[in-house]
Amino acid sequence: MKYELETIPVWEACEADAACPLCFLAERLEKQYVKFYLGDSVMTPEIRVQVNRRGFCPHHWHALLGAGNKLGLALMASTYIETVRETLASEQKKLTVRKGPTGKVFESSQGTMIDRTEDCLICERLQYTLSNYAYTVARLFTDDRIFRDRFQESRGFCLSHLPFALRIGRNTLSGAEFSRYAAAVFGVIDRDLAGIHDDLAQFTGQFDYRATGPVTESMKAATPRAVAKLAGTDPTGH
Ligand SMILES: [Zn+2]
Ligand SMILES: [Zn+2]
Repeated sequence: MKYELETIPVWEACEADAACPLCFLAERLEKQYVKFYLGDSVMTPEIRVQVNRRGFCPHHWHALLGAGNKLGLALMASTYIETVRETLASEQKKLTVRKGPTGKVFESSQGTMIDRTEDCLICERLQYTLSNYAYTVARLFTDDRIFRDRFQESRGFCLSHLPFALRIGRNTLSGAEFSRYAAAVFGVIDRDLAGIHDDLAQFTGQFDYRATGPVTESMKAATPRAVAKLAGTDPTGH
């Protein structure tokens, strides 16, 4: 794909001092996209056709439900269900029955709507925009001295987004630029992991019978911080 610079959101993520700028931006984008598919735009024929053809992954169906627009969801889901019923009817015709060792076994054709749960319209748009954001981080790091300094003080990426961010950096920067970028990325992530490791040790230390001090809020925050770093907070996990 051809990447585009999206400097404003990337700077905003940088200012927010997030554990991972891509997780921070993915959460924001997901809310925007969910709102989009529950809004008036979904009534336009083009979008309606897309929704009816693709539907949503289980995670995003639940996100749509959680967005608090039951009327928008009802309108969209009812047209989608009409398509689903037609698809199920034609899938049923394609089912073949064979004799298995324990009786009859049904086999369905592959790649149809009923077994597509891996990605969806929202996943796809998230992936596209996040690619531009990861590209922008790499580009700003290389071209903008102020951003580079800020990045060196940041917490880098979560480990879920690390391979994604590195892959885009490697594909879009020169060899020398990428070496410098990768060194900074690994450096900030290691420093953040070391800090989280210390906080976890302090937290677990408070459960020792010899411990005297109270368990502070920052100690309690150590475990969710560790999980956010290790797994990210972007449920689609790009
Ligand atoms: Zn992340
Ligand atoms: Zn999805």
